[in-house]
Amino acid sequence: MEENTPSAVQETELNESLCVNCQVNPFEAGHPINLCASCRTSLINYPIPKWIKIFAICLGVVIVVSIIRTQFYISAAIDLGKSEKAIENKEYLTAKRELAKVLKKFPNDLKANAEMIIASAYSFDRVAAGTAFDKIVDKQIDDDDLYNCLLYTSDAADEPRHV
Ligand SMILES: [Zn+2]
Repeated sequence: MEENTPSAVQETELNESLCVNCQVNPFEAGHPINLCASCRTSLINYPIPKWIKIFAICLGVVIVVSIIRTQFYISAAIDLGKSEKAIENKEYLTAKRELAKVLKKFPNDLKANAEMIIASAYSFDRVAAGTAFDKIVDKQIDDDDLYNCLLYTSDAADEPRHV
């Protein structure tokens, strides 16, 4: 026995002469969707949910912050690159100037401080060398080249200079 109750098959008949939304008022002619005036107004003014607005604002903030942070890191990396090049060329004052910019952003950065010690030692700036040394004195240096260079610098600094 097949069960074919009318209620299961029943679908709401769409009265095409009425508004497709409310099916109460006659629709306004001249629009692609047949809506009555009050439905059209309420659908146009349909408010954007608050959580979507908040989400959009948060997303915007995250994007702006990440752009700023990225530029912050990139500019520090560029300055660090310039200082390394300057140390290679024995331009220690230039190196110190570039390193000062990096350390302003990342005061405790190991590499920047280590290079600051080197650049300061070679430009006989004991104060700057000491400041940088204090920041990294208890840190582990994994970069062998940097460590050896630092060791060499401190040995050279300790040796009595013959004037
Ligand atoms: Zn309507």
